Amino acid sequence: MSALRGTVWFVGAGPGDPDLITVKGRRLLEQAGAILFAGSLVDQAATQHAPQGCEIRDSRDMTLEEMNAWLAEACARHETVVRLQTGDPGLYGALVELTRPLDAAGIPWRVVPGVSSAMAAAAAAGETLTLPEVTQTVILTRVAGRTPMPAGEELEALAAHRSTLCIFLSITLLHEVQRALRAAGWPEDAPIVVVHKASWPGAEKVVRGTLADIKRRCQDEKIASQAMILASPALGARLWPDIARSKLYDPGFGHRFRKASMPAGIATGESA
Ligand code: SAH
Repeated sequence: MSALRGTVWFVGAGPGDPDLITVKGRRLLEQAGAILFAGSLVDQAATQHAPQGCEIRDSRDMTLEEMNAWLAEACARHETVVRLQTGDPGLYGALVELTRPLDAAGIPWRVVPGVSSAMAAAAAAGETLTLPEVTQTVILTRVAGRTPMPAGEELEALAAHRSTLCIFLSITLLHEVQRALRAAGWPEDAPIVVVHKASWPGAEKVVRGTLADIKRRCQDEKIASQAMILASPALGARLWPDIARSKLYDPGFGHRFRKASMPAGIATGESA
């Protein structure tokens, strides 16, 4: 084998819409000698931007060992090798399993972040994941499938915080999501939004429901894959009669870019 010279770039392709890859990610695809992409979700981006003669391979039918060998061999032939993954590579993307063998082989690698489906789902639904005085915390999680949850990370325990939950990889386990939220005391009318194929042109579906009926609504829409479950006390806030204002835009709240024009609290009617 010739001397190693390439770098492996783990590039977040974004949630599906080919326009939602970062400029940096697209530039890397345009100069890639080889691209290993993760399944159907990102094939369009790979084929759209790759230069002529680029080696393009779908990793869907490969084992981890085969992927590692493919990436290492590609680095012996090309300066830029891209591993293209859905959303952001740091979320449920087997990043460590793929980078450890590269480290062991002395092959340099870098990560280019991507728009996660959690963000794309919120955007599709026109929802905010944080809202002043309602929730200021977002938990990205899943329920246990074949991958068990570490102790203390059971959905029931996380849901006890009553903050926003973005639940990945769990659409076929909606009954388990319902059970956990109920056990944590969420009411039956708690709003839940499921977004299928967020950002996919022509394919995106937003299903709005409650803890009580979200499973039936998803069944009615035949949603059984590629879906983000959003559970949050902030869902639907745009329809509420009254919300606490964000301090950032409160005239009484000065910050680096603006001086306060009135004492804090007056604009929102709260005591300082
Ligand atoms: N790294 C990815 C997540 C990969 S795990 C990210 O940051 O988004 C795969 C899970 O992500 C799916 O089971 C689903 O829950 C979610 N997902 C990925 N793309 C999606 C999309 N376009 N719409 C809704 N959910 C999506």
